Amino acid sequence: MDYLVLVNKTNKCPDLDIKLVDTKSRYANNRYSEEKTFKAFKKLQKFAKERGYDIEIESAYRSIEYQQKIYDKCVENKGLEHTKKYVATPGYSEHHTGLALDICLVKDDIFIIEHDLPVYFIDFLSDNAYKFGFIIRYPHDKEAITGYNYEPWHIRYVGVNNAKTMKNNNITLEEYLCK
Ligand SMILES: [Zn+2]
Repeated sequence: MDYLVLVNKTNKCPDLDIKLVDTKSRYANNRYSEEKTFKAFKKLQKFAKERGYDIEIESAYRSIEYQQKIYDKCVENKGLEHTKKYVATPGYSEHHTGLALDICLVKDDIFIIEHDLPVYFIDFLSDNAYKFGFIIRYPHDKEAITGYNYEPWHIRYVGVNNAKTMKNNNITLEEYLCK
């Protein structure tokens, strides 16, 4: 497995030999993730729990076929223009790698996602995820480089050393790979 594989709007997900494991997250539609990614997530989850945050996986691995289904459905309902803007083109989503996780926060049995996440939790994730090998893949000031709007909940496993370097230098995966 190439833990630095680059998948974005111009780099299609290559054929990868991904070892998927069942995360058993009851909050996820796509609950399988790459093996090492899930191991790292478990450590991050424990660390978060000790600090009062109950975190879960909301979305992990998505097959290209699955993404195609979502895409086609959106085209049918909302048209091609809308779909192109809001839904990743099948083959170009980082979720195809199994290394990307969308994190949610569980509070009083309600799960909080995406734009509803509180700022203190977003800060917590951004300050600590790298310790476990994750980067915040789409930071708010890097839209021009990543091609994506700010998504503080989407974390990507790259391994601890790589994550540390990217965090310390405030750079994205694209910049780290000089792409
Ligand atoms: Zn995501």
